Amino acid sequence: MAFTLDKKHLAKYPFLKEAQGFVQTMDIPLDTLIRSELPTGARIREQGAQRLIAAMIPEKRPDNDTIAAPDEEIKSYAMARIIASCLNDRSIMDRLARYEAGRAGRFLEEEDDAVRRYVAESLGLEPETEHIPVPRYVELVSGLRDDRWRLVNRTVSRGRVDIGRQDLDVLVVERIRTVIRSQLPLQVPGGICMKLRESMDRISATYQQQMLEEFGEIDEGSFPPCMQALIAAITAGTNLPHTGRFALTAFLHTIGMETTQIVEVFTRAPDFDVGRTLYQVEHIAGRGGTEYTPPGCATMRTYGLCVNRNADCERVAHPLSYYKRRKKQEKPKPGSQAD
Ligand code: SF4
Repeated sequence: MAFTLDKKHLAKYPFLKEAQGFVQTMDIPLDTLIRSELPTGARIREQGAQRLIAAMIPEKRPDNDTIAAPDEEIKSYAMARIIASCLNDRSIMDRLARYEAGRAGRFLEEEDDAVRRYVAESLGLEPETEHIPVPRYVELVSGLRDDRWRLVNRTVSRGRVDIGRQDLDVLVVERIRTVIRSQLPLQVPGGICMKLRESMDRISATYQQQMLEEFGEIDEGSFPPCMQALIAAITAGTNLPHTGRFALTAFLHTIGMETTQIVEVFTRAPDFDVGRTLYQVEHIAGRGGTEYTPPGCATMRTYGLCVNRNADCERVAHPLSYYKRRKKQEKPKPGSQAD
């Protein structure tokens, strides 16, 4: 790779090791900026917080991504990672990685081939490849939910999967996402996190508000058929297999149901044991440090849990997307009144 990126490139692709090298050799180190009361420190802190807010609220994203001050862009990316690490919330880190990858992907669309090649190679991808070995392919697409990425829907010959140019663009963005996510959380000293408390609280509150707006009040009528079937099975006194319990619990937790409400759903199961159920629900809800999300439709099908599909199922790849869509459709329009 004889090509060298300039500062503006590093600002567009701050996850590259060259950008991280820049942060480490800054005139004023980032931790000094955080600890000091310097106006530059406050500005970078705010820019980092704004990156996280944009990661959580699509409407807060700038219409046009431009790089006005490359140095500050690189620093604000580093700051956003520090704040996210202090929060140490899986969903917030996921959203940051997704947002940053999407942003980099949009910049890449405008780049010439040399830059695209450089970024792809830096991420361990072969930029001009038309075939990827199956194990590598499976690894690369493991976070992609669309059915078109499933191996059964691809052309595979001699242990390699055929890849088109547009596929490769998606895989590069996905790889950026996994690289950014794999680097989080960073090990941040407690003293630094204390200094970032105001930004952390603001981002936590923004995230919670966004979750409430996304999912709103629990509305069982909008549950996807698979989840309704699981609840019906419990109500009818059926013992659910582990995969069914897991999928339902993670779904109910993600849409905002309290632990006690979830346990209540399981009280109807014939083998109900309050202690065991409470333990399982709290574990899935993240008490052990990992918060689980429900499986996507492809995995639900593999488990044999995708049942009673309806027309809306054709438009989603995840039970949560189904729920969000249905809730939106059923939301009364402002000004309209129920009879
Ligand atoms: S398609 Fe998805 S949302 Fe619909 S029933 Fe199957 S798993 Fe549930």
